[in-house]
Amino acid sequence: MSATGNGHRTAIRTCPLCEATCGLELTLAGDQVASIRGDRDDVFSKGFICPKGYALKELHADPDRIRTPLIRRGDGTFEPAGWDEAFEVIDSRLSPILAADREAVAVYLGNPNAHLLDNMLYGKVLLRALGTRNLYSASTVDQFPKQMSCALMFGTGTTVPVPDLDRTDHVLMLGANPLASNGSLMTSPDARGRLRAMRQRGGKLVVIDPRRSRTAEEADEHHFIRPGTDAHLLFALVNVLVEEGLADPGERLEALCDGLETVRALAAPFTPEAVADVCGIEAPEIRRMAHELAAAPRAVVYGRIGTCTQEFGTLASWLVDVLNVLTGNLDREGGAMFPLGAAGHSNAAGPPSRGRGTTFGRWQSRVRGLGEIFGELPVACLAEEIETPGEGQVRALITFAGNPVVSTPNSGRLDSALAELEFMVSVDVYVNETTRHADVILPAPSPLRRSHYDLALYLFAVRNVANYSPPALAPEPDLPDEWITILRLSGVAAGLGPNADVARLDEQAARALIQREVSTAESPVSGRTVEEVLEALQPRVGPERLLDLMLRTGPYGDGFGARTDGPGLSLAALEQAAHGIDLGPLRPRLPDALRTPSGKVELAPEPIVADVERLRASLTAPRNGDHPVLVGRRQLRSNNSWMHNLPVLVKGKPRCTLHVHPDDADRYELVDGADAEVRSRTGAVVAQVEVTDAIMPGVVSLPHGWGHDVAGTQQRVAADHPGTNSNVLADELLLDAVSGNAVLNGIPVELAPVRAAAPA
Ligand code: SF4
Repeated sequence: MSATGNGHRTAIRTCPLCEATCGLELTLAGDQVASIRGDRDDVFSKGFICPKGYALKELHADPDRIRTPLIRRGDGTFEPAGWDEAFEVIDSRLSPILAADREAVAVYLGNPNAHLLDNMLYGKVLLRALGTRNLYSASTVDQFPKQMSCALMFGTGTTVPVPDLDRTDHVLMLGANPLASNGSLMTSPDARGRLRAMRQRGGKLVVIDPRRSRTAEEADEHHFIRPGTDAHLLFALVNVLVEEGLADPGERLEALCDGLETVRALAAPFTPEAVADVCGIEAPEIRRMAHELAAAPRAVVYGRIGTCTQEFGTLASWLVDVLNVLTGNLDREGGAMFPLGAAGHSNAAGPPSRGRGTTFGRWQSRVRGLGEIFGELPVACLAEEIETPGEGQVRALITFAGNPVVSTPNSGRLDSALAELEFMVSVDVYVNETTRHADVILPAPSPLRRSHYDLALYLFAVRNVANYSPPALAPEPDLPDEWITILRLSGVAAGLGPNADVARLDEQAARALIQREVSTAESPVSGRTVEEVLEALQPRVGPERLLDLMLRTGPYGDGFGARTDGPGLSLAALEQAAHGIDLGPLRPRLPDALRTPSGKVELAPEPIVADVERLRASLTAPRNGDHPVLVGRRQLRSNNSWMHNLPVLVKGKPRCTLHVHPDDADRYELVDGADAEVRSRTGAVVAQVEVTDAIMPGVVSLPHGWGHDVAGTQQRVAADHPGTNSNVLADELLLDAVSGNAVLNGIPVELAPVRAAAPA
């Protein structure tokens, strides 16, 4: 923090709003933000900022943001309350439900949790105290198919190879729009600049997408593809490489991989000719794509949300990395590489390369029998778990920074189910479509009053970096840090009542983490006592104590004095480096990064191989009859559901429109600017039509996260720009069979014009 001449102060911090981790320079006037710009000295983003970054100013000042606990009174209205009263209500209503059945309490975590240091570090403490298996999150409407395929291939759900964007020569990209997102499972601030730089050095960008997205417009080549058929196309590329003798992982990768022959055999039916009609891409084009991929000196295949949120999401995610192996591009410069984050020894370089792998399906959902994945159940089954009586029925819900009523499938059903809960508590900054059902809402501080470190997202960054931001502003009176709120909730869950000793719970959390470190052979503090390490971390408490421990025992850490040859990272070092510390380009990490039981890359894991027959059968099965299908779309000025109350992001022409190809507009008599009814098995919505040839014929697109026109919310700007809730149309019964992830791309729908009523 530094003072400027006019009494203003400058604060440098990382933007917490999306995966890109951009550095921001804030000019502060008292308690408010005067201006925001990109931090030109940030080691990673180098001054880049997107419109959402500027919107932090409005988020901080938003009069609709909750600043005190709210309790629902008998007449259904929310009334401000003190924290002690709020926790007394929580204790008196939640504890009896927990005492009767731990499974009766479910938890839902929204996407922002991945960006919140407090929640990343203390969420597990609460979950342990609750002891429920009914955990749900936005991950099963997003990236779990990719994390699952990576866990099966490489050992853990965070061992995810990402494009080495700054050194590659060729990117084949499916279902991703980094010009709007700035990367997802590919943290890459200024993705456009990085892709342009690649093209300027002679590289090529090929985009496969049912929409001509912003990224597709920048690309050398764009191919429309029928939604839900990425796995077919990817298998055909594998087929060409295998059949034409172009599959060449190289000696090193071949020695590291198991299952190469199985992959070759599995690819046999998926010739370009067999998949061409299914995908809508001609066979010679598929062959050319494969040839160019094989011929590029350094190439990478990258798939994101469009490849995950579809019928064959895990297969498509797997095939992306199979192609990276077959072309010799896994774990090499310019290919798909494994980042090395700074926090935590489990992410560290060096042996062991053999691990326990990851087990899925350790328990099943009660009603539909859907398998557990990474400790969670698919959110597509949350409504039925609330509705269906019997032992284990969900009777209470805790939500953190989430709005599943507009962001998960068949949201109309979930909306009704939430109204039936016996008790609901939400930790959130808004009264939104979901939290309006809560009995108690606990506010979280403004992002500018929180410290920040991207524990999760640096694990997927295109360059190894570390950046810590202290709070830019002092805490608001009577609005505690979120980790304190989480620990108080943990106290209730553990039976300690509404006023548990937070300092004690925090020390227990620290001791548990230290205990794990000192008993791990690879940790630099292995063999030390818990007391010694606890002493060395003083006087820090809370998330800073845990983060310091993770940084110092991490791969670049000072090891509490045990390491003298590396960058010597610690929280103190990061506090001295306001613009972050650059830890260098991605480096090859195999075999050390592997955690599979075999110590190899498992190219043909059994759960994935078992699903290939379903894909093969779909080559000849009719798909969706004659129905058009619905897909989503990412927008630069939106991030899921929660930024629509910020005027700077919603101003201008309506963005939540239904994209319709001109041929389909003719066919269904839809008119640009007029309304259309869109109907699926689960419901119907009305949306404004935008006729555009940027969408494939037979496909329509609505962005998700909208639909702010329901009663009982307190988001005035969003209510004036409501948009349409596309998840009314998403079907909770349509899932990727392997992962249980929801199908949000490729939903069969019917279209009809909404005709203005004739004047009476
Ligand atoms: S790209 Fe993401 S991290 Fe960067 S400024 Fe925009 S919202 Fe913030």
